Amino acid sequence: MTDRPIILLSNDDGIRADGLQAVAQTLAAVGELWVVAPDRERSAIGHAITLDRPLRVEEVRPRWLAVSGTPADSVYLGTLHLLPRKPDLVVSGINNGYNLGSDIFYSGTVAAAVEGTIRGVPSIAVSIEFQPEPDFAAAARFAAALARTTVERGLPPGNLLNVNLAAGAPRGYAWTRLGKRIYREQVTERVDLRGKRYFWIGGPAVAAPDAAGTDCEAVRAGVVSVTPLDLEMTSSALEGALPEWRLDGFEAVGEPRKAPGAP
Ligand code: MN
Repeated sequence: MTDRPIILLSNDDGIRADGLQAVAQTLAAVGELWVVAPDRERSAIGHAITLDRPLRVEEVRPRWLAVSGTPADSVYLGTLHLLPRKPDLVVSGINNGYNLGSDIFYSGTVAAAVEGTIRGVPSIAVSIEFQPEPDFAAAARFAAALARTTVERGLPPGNLLNVNLAAGAPRGYAWTRLGKRIYREQVTERVDLRGKRYFWIGGPAVAAPDAAGTDCEAVRAGVVSVTPLDLEMTSSALEGALPEWRLDGFEAVGEPRKAPGAP
């Protein structure tokens, strides 16, 4: 690459979040940094995009743009319109709180990186173990090292990297796969001042044994977890079985769809 790489940084904790500020400092040494991030916290917003109202963009300082929308909105605007050209890398984070296992389906942090991937830009999401007074230094240094190598080597289309770090000094890193993060299934019902019921959903994470090679196992051992994610989500487990199904009153049309390269 002859030009300095352009890096787009976003998050779901909002443009004022300490985790974003920390990684902005280390990423500035890797390339020309642009920040396009939600103007407030939008954690657990998933991959929502805003289609029912206009988006406003405020320049809070040069190359730092606050968006009145979601993480995915921010990356969409950043990659397609707000930057001088399409960036060479999207980084999302650093989120204060893990995004392990099934967390990725709720996470705005991961969604911002997925949006970068959909726009054809190599993308990384970075999260740390939740702490009331988080220290982002180690994660920010790791993110910069991974960012530099990802820009050099690139990622296959449709693929991204999801990084998680435990609190404290990491003991190296490991390439992992998604584990299972189990939360207590919990619905709390209460009654408001007008006598109407309302609900809080979701319980705390439950301690459970972690499968070998997973993101959950790595962070428990104090190792930085880097999980490659693939947006190709067609089920290979069901691809073989579904052609046997018969649906009353309907005709199956065409050959069963097989993944490229499948036997
Ligand atoms: Mn968050």
